[in-house]
Amino acid sequence: MNAPALIDTHCHLDFESYDGDRPAVLFRAREAGVIAVVNPAVDLVSSAAVCQLAASEPLIFGAVGIHPNNSADFAVAHVDELRALARQLRVVAIGEIGLDYYRDRSPRQTQRRALEAQLELAAALALPVILHNREATADVLAILRDWIGGLPANHPLLGRPGVLHSFSGTVDDAAQAVALGFYIGITGPITFKNADMLRRVAAALPDDRLLIETDAPFLTPHPHRGERNEPAYVRLVADRIAGVRLSTYEAVAAQTTRNAVRLFALPVPG
Ligand SMILES: [Zn+2]
Repeated sequence: MNAPALIDTHCHLDFESYDGDRPAVLFRAREAGVIAVVNPAVDLVSSAAVCQLAASEPLIFGAVGIHPNNSADFAVAHVDELRALARQLRVVAIGEIGLDYYRDRSPRQTQRRALEAQLELAAALALPVILHNREATADVLAILRDWIGGLPANHPLLGRPGVLHSFSGTVDDAAQAVALGFYIGITGPITFKNADMLRRVAAALPDDRLLIETDAPFLTPHPHRGERNEPAYVRLVADRIAGVRLSTYEAVAAQTTRNAVRLFALPVPG
């Protein structure tokens, strides 16, 4: 029997940690039932690399964007470069973008400027956004609320504006994001011993807002913690979610695949 279809909505297969064995990683993903992965970029160079990877590998869809940790030298001209890259066929989102007050590698004011400019680009192109947030929840939600509030009533992103990737907030934070139409991405930490808050979030989310991700090569789920992560392990995230939602692996796989297909308008069955 075939494994239930899964979509890893966040992984970084363009990173050099896969240069030695990318085909094997993709093979194992397919064996695990993964029918698509979304590979966000972190800067202009990786945006171009992701486009190339997505064009050459049918499993991979790309996103282009500048990560907050790489936004210190952000300039408006960068948005033009992203716009040109985003026109490529297999680019399905703008990301990853957001705010990171934990690492604080770029001035916060610059991070916010880069985020707002890329949200504007996403709205202009009607591409959903992939959001990174570390210790900046209040500012992220405020900026997203303004952005959504400024979209015209018939804008195609209303109801599917994007995903809060690798969510690490509270049940209430998640509810606020869902009220704005966002999806919530759950990663490997849900399998960790001390992740009760994340499990409560995963249990409370509406069916139609839930996404599964690996964030590979990072955040490797139990029992592979400490090793490099890869998209095949997204099944461990789905399995743990099934446990906390008192559901089945098959049901979580089917629902999250459907959600990913809808959010990113993926040309795969879902
Ligand atoms: Zn990421």
